[in-house]
Amino acid sequence: MEDYDAVIVGAGIGGLALGYALASNGRKVCVLEARREVTPSKRGLTLQPNGLETLQKLGLLDRVLRIGAKTTHVSWYEIREGPLATFDYSILDHPHNYLLTVVPSELELDLREAFSSKGGIIYDSTFFQETLRAGFGRVIKAEKNRSPVEFSAKIIVGADGENSRVRQALQILARIKKYPDDFLFMLAGPVASLRSEARQHVARGKMVGFFPTRGLTYIFYYISGRRLQQFKSQKLESFLNELADIEPEISDSLRSLRYWEDIAHVSARRVDVNSWVADRAALLGDAVHALDPSWAQGANMALQDAVALSNTIERCFALHDFSANALKGYERMRRKQAEFVQREAERTAQLTATENGFYYWLGKRVLKRIGRNRELMRVALQASCGLIDRFSLQEQIRFLI
Ligand SMILES: Cc1cc2nc3c(=O)[nH]c(=O)nc-3n(C[C@H](O)[C@H](O)[C@H](O)COP(=O)(O)OP(=O)(O)OC[C@H]3O[C@@H](n4cnc5c(N)ncnc54)[C@H](O)[C@@H]3O)c2cc1C
Repeated sequence: MEDYDAVIVGAGIGGLALGYALASNGRKVCVLEARREVTPSKRGLTLQPNGLETLQKLGLLDRVLRIGAKTTHVSWYEIREGPLATFDYSILDHPHNYLLTVVPSELELDLREAFSSKGGIIYDSTFFQETLRAGFGRVIKAEKNRSPVEFSAKIIVGADGENSRVRQALQILARIKKYPDDFLFMLAGPVASLRSEARQHVARGKMVGFFPTRGLTYIFYYISGRRLQQFKSQKLESFLNELADIEPEISDSLRSLRYWEDIAHVSARRVDVNSWVADRAALLGDAVHALDPSWAQGANMALQDAVALSNTIERCFALHDFSANALKGYERMRRKQAEFVQREAERTAQLTATENGFYYWLGKRVLKRIGRNRELMRVALQASCGLIDRFSLQEQIRFLI
């Protein structure tokens, strides 16, 4: 049985960032990953000021900047009606007042390389199954290519996403809410006019985003889950024509999309848990706070979790105490912001990706008010960029009236 200081389950962005932080401190760490290899993503992922700041703390920002495209403006339009608002991230008083959109598989490959360079070990094709308490720490049981494998560690971390098996093994209660929203997403060719500006287009029951990545354009398309089957029974060509109709400048770039298989689909879920930690165990990222993607915050918060948890684990090593009580400091540091972002992202989705006429009208009103008022925009951006964890009552009222 191989022995580690920490075994992390899940080589997503959160698990790899934590692995890197611990391995940089000289800890012996391995990451178990169910997938056989990293496959090229069909989507983009936007890093925001909170995630960028965390990458800088880890010493990883420079390498991540090389694989992403910077954007300072996101313009919102009502389909067939015209502009609603332009969000200007450069008004934020923050060293990283911009968005950086990357292809997530490229970020994962980068983080894997950084983790390995610090001596970290990744076991691919290794599916976590069970964990048991033992005198020295924890035994971790997994399956690699259908054969059982066992590891021992002082602590196990579940960074294994919204359906976390580690969470289940620890018997941590979770409430899982499936949203009515489904997203189609894809990567098309580059578009010159989208180099430094991202665009989001809305209509009642429809939302489409175009974000530049380095060399490509990330497109996401909201569709109500009810309509998905019927939607996908249409010819791909009519869908692409609709996208070109909304954003004519993208027409030529859509040629790289030839089959429905080039377009991925995901249903959004929210996860709330009663505890982020247990004795000699902790959870991070989507395993504890999966959320609606409308604020593009899931991976950014997973990065913040990773740094907070690594600091807490170092304190546990210093005190020789890995009890739930000793690990609780990590949860106290992160829970409030995570719940704020979960709640407000859900509200934003209700107002922008909605078929309800009243909510749609209200969403447009809020967008226009933010677009006209620089101070209100600053507050809205601070929140959606993960820089604050509450709105005052006065701010909430100012968004509406
Ligand atoms: C459409 C969409 C768009 C999004 N856009 C953004 C965005 O722009 N910005 C942003 O910050 N966030 C975005 N998110 C959210 C973001 O992708 C997630 O929050 C983030 O990837 C979570 O990272 P994680 O490391 O917690 O988990 P994951 O990325 O889910 O990684 C979990 C890993 O664990 C592995 N695993 C699972 N079970 C096991 C097991 N039993 N044994 C071993 N391994 C296992 C999985 O294979 C996976 O590799 C988006 C989400 C969606 C759905």
